[in-house]
Amino acid sequence: MTAELDILISGGTLLTMSDAMEKVRNAEIGIKDGNILFVRPMGGGHPVTTAKEIINASECLILPGLINTHTHLPMVCFRGLADDLPLNEWLTNHIFPAEARYVNRDMVYYGSLLGIAEMLLSGTTSFCDGYFFASSTARAAMEAGIRGIVGQGIIDYPTADNPDPSKHLTIATGFVNKWKGVSPLVTPALFCHSPYTCSPETLKNIKCITSEHDLLYLIHVSETLDEVKVIKDRYGLSPVAHLEKLGVLDNRTVAIHCVWVDDEEIDILARRGAGISHAPESNMKLATGVAPVPKMRKRGIAIGLGTDGCASNNDLDLILEMGTAARIHKVDTMDPTVISAETALKMATKEGARVLGLDDRIGSIEPGKCADIIILDMKKPHLTPVYNEYSHVVYAASGADVKTTIVNGRVIMRNRKILSFDMRTAMEKVRAVAQRIIEDRSRGIY
Ligand SMILES: [Zn+2]
Repeated sequence: MTAELDILISGGTLLTMSDAMEKVRNAEIGIKDGNILFVRPMGGGHPVTTAKEIINASECLILPGLINTHTHLPMVCFRGLADDLPLNEWLTNHIFPAEARYVNRDMVYYGSLLGIAEMLLSGTTSFCDGYFFASSTARAAMEAGIRGIVGQGIIDYPTADNPDPSKHLTIATGFVNKWKGVSPLVTPALFCHSPYTCSPETLKNIKCITSEHDLLYLIHVSETLDEVKVIKDRYGLSPVAHLEKLGVLDNRTVAIHCVWVDDEEIDILARRGAGISHAPESNMKLATGVAPVPKMRKRGIAIGLGTDGCASNNDLDLILEMGTAARIHKVDTMDPTVISAETALKMATKEGARVLGLDDRIGSIEPGKCADIIILDMKKPHLTPVYNEYSHVVYAASGADVKTTIVNGRVIMRNRKILSFDMRTAMEKVRAVAQRIIEDRSRGIY
């Protein structure tokens, strides 16, 4: 006898993203206490099941919630602020000055809430973020009910949340102690900006803290050719070899970008079991290059997808990011078979979960896993007809096709409406930040 379910999803086609990549037509998914209790086809003589809520998913596609392995959520405030520029100029002349002037607790909190709204509306149920005032992002994630790994940003320059870089250990430790064990959904992490903005001592010290608490260590690595040159000039090593020498690479490290990694660096990443966050749209927009993803996947390295921040993408739609990932490697290698639609969807789900060390809990729809589930409405002209569901998700759909988003067994977005918080307030607050920037620009202050 099955106890009453919290939610029964009934009907529709389910892509489980299990190891066997099972597809279930007319699926039934039972959810109780945040977990998936059963996954089966409808009918089949099962005892009648009652549920507090029944979601009719007929003519819909059911997927595991998507996992965005690299974001800077508060940067939604800088969406469209400076485009079409080389990374160095973009960072030095626009983003860093804007961050110095406009980043504060409120901006990070409301920017994070707005970013979370955009993610929930486009099917992302888990994210991994790195930014300043990370406590505000953690608070926003907790209030919204989304699953998040929130990394406190560390950089060897004065920042709005840490004017004295020599105090970054205090900031890092304080953040970890504040958030560790507070919520089953929100986990702290530490995010070293990059090997070129953090000294070897900083990189090692922060790794000591994440190792001690078994937390993720996030870092941008080998994003541009300039970075490779700077690190080689400074330390006589490639960026990955430099990090290897410092002892910061292991299976709790998320190496973000890895665009300009050579064979020796790929060997090191594979040997150390580090995960990679691949952010192709950001790499394209900043013209930083194309990461050797097919080669790294062949070495068994876990590679998830990330949107990066909204100033370099400029959205948080992981469905679109999948389409970009599937396409960019085809043209880069002149081989259309190199990243299939199934592979792109794996990167946005189970592989992303592996990168974040959460693959025992999320990334697929199977009994015993957390109920992070999205439902796409397939009754749309651009999704008609259907030969192959994987193809539609990756090549034809967008985040706007997501109808329902469930995180940890709780419906947080239904019929394209966020239920857990008022996103209009977040939009108003972010517009106010932008208005200040526009006025300062017109007065020549920024
Ligand atoms: Zn980034």
